[in-house]
Amino acid sequence: MRLCLVEDDLAIGSSLHAGLRSCGFTVDWVQDGETAEDTLRVTDYTTVLLDIGLPGKSGLDVLNALRSRGNDTPVIILSARDRVADRINGLDSGADDYLPKPFDLDELTARIRALRRRRGGRTSTLMRHGQIVFDPARQAVSYRGATVSLRSRELAFLAALMEEPGKVLSRSQLIDRVYGWDTDIESNAVEFHIHALRQKLSAGAIRNMRGVGYFLADEPAA
Ligand code: CA
Repeated sequence: MRLCLVEDDLAIGSSLHAGLRSCGFTVDWVQDGETAEDTLRVTDYTTVLLDIGLPGKSGLDVLNALRSRGNDTPVIILSARDRVADRINGLDSGADDYLPKPFDLDELTARIRALRRRRGGRTSTLMRHGQIVFDPARQAVSYRGATVSLRSRELAFLAALMEEPGKVLSRSQLIDRVYGWDTDIESNAVEFHIHALRQKLSAGAIRNMRGVGYFLADEPAA
């Protein structure tokens, strides 16, 4: 899951950036409203984490611009402004959730997962596809009833494929979803990690449409 973190406070931003990454998220961090707007115009994110008090354009300006373009990416406002009126204003401006600072990282990640469930129309906290069961809260996977130990990149590739079951994701779409900025991407990264996933799940679990991309095989449900 690729997140856009919009936060101008260096201490909060760097600790959130590191904390979210350690929870398995891909995070792009921007520090002002103008850059946030430009970034959100060209990149699709799973969720935007938006501070309100920013240099230049405020978080609410960024949110208004996003929604007026018809972009419905989930937005969670993270703000020190915790009056009831601020929260109402944030939600009524198009935010999906509002978390007053300071907050607990675990609560934030739980809210991100809850938003994803709601968007995906899922009632279960687990994601399932065929024989694969993925638990986003524990970052744990089982296949054909047995626990599978995956490295963090492998988890990220599998999560990207499970977020859009039935869809063929191209190499560049996979790279977009799994890698944020500031990352050196090895030229064979996709092939390398998909190969590892197939070895740990099964050769047929992830299919390749030649020249197009990868998708999860339709196996009978677990
Ligand atoms: Ca701020």
